[in-house]
Amino acid sequence: MLDAASTPQVTRLADYRPPAWTVPAIALDFDLDDKATRVTSRLTVERGEGGPLVLDGEGLRLISLSVDGKPLGDGDYSYADDKLTITLNGDSHIVESVVEISPIANTQLMGLYASEGMLCTQCEAEGFRRITFFPDRPDVLSRFTVKMTADKARYPVLLSNGNRVAAGEGKDGRHWAEWEDPFPKPCYLFALVAGDLSALKDEFVTASGRKVELGIWVREADVPRCRHAMDALKSSMRWDEQVYGREYDLDLFNIVAVSDFNFGAMENKGLNIFNSKYILADADTATDLDFDNVAAVVAHEYFHNWTGNRITCRDWFQLSLKEGLTVYRDQEFSADHGSRAVKRIEDVRMLRAVQFQEDSGPLAHPVRPESYMEISNFYTATIYNKGAEVIRMLATLLGADRYRAGCDLYFDRHDGQAVTIEDWVKAHEDANGLDLTQFRRWYAQAGTPRVAVSSRYDAASKSLEIDLAQSTPPTPGQDSKAPFHIPLDVALFGRDSGARLGDPRLIELKDSSATIRLDDVAEPPVLSINRGFSAPIAIDAPQTREELAHLSAHDDDPFARYEALQRLALLTLTDAIRRGDEVADPALVDAVAATLDSGLDPAFIGEAVLLPSEAFIGDQMPTVDPDAIHGVREATRRTLGSQLNDRWWSAYRANRDNRYELNPEAKGRRRLKNVALGYLVADADPKAVSTTFEQFGDADNMTDRLAALGLLTSLEVGEREAALAAFHARYKNDPLVLDKWFATQALSTHPDALDQVIALSRHADFSRTNPNRFRALIGSFGANQPRFHAADGGGYAFLANEVLAVDGLNSQSAARMVQPLTRWRRFGADRAALMRAELERILATPGLSKDVYEVVSKGLA
Ligand code: ZN
Repeated sequence: MLDAASTPQVTRLADYRPPAWTVPAIALDFDLDDKATRVTSRLTVERGEGGPLVLDGEGLRLISLSVDGKPLGDGDYSYADDKLTITLNGDSHIVESVVEISPIANTQLMGLYASEGMLCTQCEAEGFRRITFFPDRPDVLSRFTVKMTADKARYPVLLSNGNRVAAGEGKDGRHWAEWEDPFPKPCYLFALVAGDLSALKDEFVTASGRKVELGIWVREADVPRCRHAMDALKSSMRWDEQVYGREYDLDLFNIVAVSDFNFGAMENKGLNIFNSKYILADADTATDLDFDNVAAVVAHEYFHNWTGNRITCRDWFQLSLKEGLTVYRDQEFSADHGSRAVKRIEDVRMLRAVQFQEDSGPLAHPVRPESYMEISNFYTATIYNKGAEVIRMLATLLGADRYRAGCDLYFDRHDGQAVTIEDWVKAHEDANGLDLTQFRRWYAQAGTPRVAVSSRYDAASKSLEIDLAQSTPPTPGQDSKAPFHIPLDVALFGRDSGARLGDPRLIELKDSSATIRLDDVAEPPVLSINRGFSAPIAIDAPQTREELAHLSAHDDDPFARYEALQRLALLTLTDAIRRGDEVADPALVDAVAATLDSGLDPAFIGEAVLLPSEAFIGDQMPTVDPDAIHGVREATRRTLGSQLNDRWWSAYRANRDNRYELNPEAKGRRRLKNVALGYLVADADPKAVSTTFEQFGDADNMTDRLAALGLLTSLEVGEREAALAAFHARYKNDPLVLDKWFATQALSTHPDALDQVIALSRHADFSRTNPNRFRALIGSFGANQPRFHAADGGGYAFLANEVLAVDGLNSQSAARMVQPLTRWRRFGADRAALMRAELERILATPGLSKDVYEVVSKGLA
């Protein structure tokens, strides 16, 4: 915590130095107890660059310290500002420390903490220093042995990384286990779990015949809800062998699910720890989206075994080396196991909703940042999702074979090392004899590039000239940008025939502007560009509604087809907002009708006919006007609902009454059915409201039940309260489902939503110490554009109060929740002043965490 006078230190990439001392081995001994755990650690340290030995340690009660068996006295070391400094004379020593920590008092959920009676750890990025003294940085790799002793009745299961090498009974009802991880690893990958857990077990045989025992550890009652996660784990293991040639390397792979967890999951070597939200799933409690997320996160953490663990990061500025690459890998895994087109649409929607906003705001940073105050604040959509887009562009530019050759060289060269993004790019250059100098700018420069596109067709020469010009707006600390190397997938479609003219081609835009000439264009064309979202950019193309409607009917790339309809909707909506009008364009109505009639995959149709989100519409406007956006978007939904009433009903009826199944086809049908119902309800069709209430009561799965609840919650009808009460009564003992109950109300556009959310923040089931629950209510409300941005500032004050209330308990939660306020510059003067005032009030509060300090001070700068 900060006192009023101090501002947190800034860590800079430019200041990186190799470690002064390495730690080839560490032996840990835990005497576990939820109130007071004693940790004895024995480090073998070896002189590296030299200087005193400086170990990180945060909130540790030091009991004793010795070097080479000799106890140290007060004058032999210093412990201040979370650093333990010891001057050592030789080149190799044994440093032993005994400390005491309190898991139950640990509400930050970093280090060793208690969650519903079990004990578990989270160390990335800097949690290990809250367990024992250690050089807490990813370029110090050590062999870990871990012994733990605990009460056998309370903690019958004792797990850590690697293999269990010994176990036995102790005195007073205690027992112990010893684990050894043969792979040297940085301390952020250390994990320990003790609890009353049961496992779903399975096994996997690797390509080379190694038998691996798999276990997913949860509370006994939850074991039946682990099947989906286990199946996803086994398909991830196979996929990594087939697509990247990477096998698993230990005899054991364990996953543990915990209820209190700061983010999604953690890839600790051989012992992944998950937020239970990304493990537990069955039809009654998990939606189709939840099932997809479970599979994606299980895959993500598994893939880290190679991209993150076998090869790790040299320092935290390289975070995207493992996160961007691993997100790209999990995206491709999901695309290979479902609809590739729908997956791409979902990923791009998320990128635009979250990362584009980040890139255009005060917290914008490059994929490889240059400085930070608190590294926890850099687990961002830029590092993860834009990082994944950069890998995707590399794969596109190289083609599958060269990309694989580059990856193979990267794994060969760097296995067992802590490396940099530069090493990753270099491997691709060296494997393929390429120069990626300009491509590297994607890692160094922040901001979303815009590419302006215009084209001229010459009928006489049957050629098309395309003019391209790129520019990237300034971001904090980066006023001007050099041009990016941008891969643009391009195709032409006949204006008359609708047929594709020639093969699609990849244009590489490298200069700030360029003119591309395409020959043999048989008829006047409509240009389709950035197909598949080949680059994470914004396109400015003066395309007419007719052209967009044309592409939405004829493009043979489903993503491009979706994109054309989205752009048509965006044009219609932004025009209406500008004119202060509420009439939907007939071209949009016709294009939506045509998409509904297209006979394409229902999952695709369900995505394509959705209007752009209110946040995304806001992004296109010089000043965000939340009321106008909400008004026009809702009016357009009403118009589409009424003008296409018959079509929505037939889409609804055609896709209902299928008995619950979990496969891509059934999921797609549920999706389209519920989107159709949404349009019917938007038009206030009374039959639709009663149908929704019936669906809520009759549903045999959570997808349909929650979709109905979501629709009812935004309406001012009697069924609203009835449904909310019934849902609460049915699921009050299931925390993950109760989170949905909170989130649904926080996202509701009901006129009284703010008051309802304030009331919910006093509900007996609300919690600020459980990150899932806090995020369900407060995080969702921050994303509720029309209600969070209530003109009187009530939403802002409420959010700021919650940020301050949670900061002392869990500063990562607080720093995440405060972010919507930092976008004040995008709003009109009245709202901007109210938002600023809340940021200033937060900043003036004594004892702020450095997490919140960093976000708020940058947000005001
Ligand atoms: Zn990750």
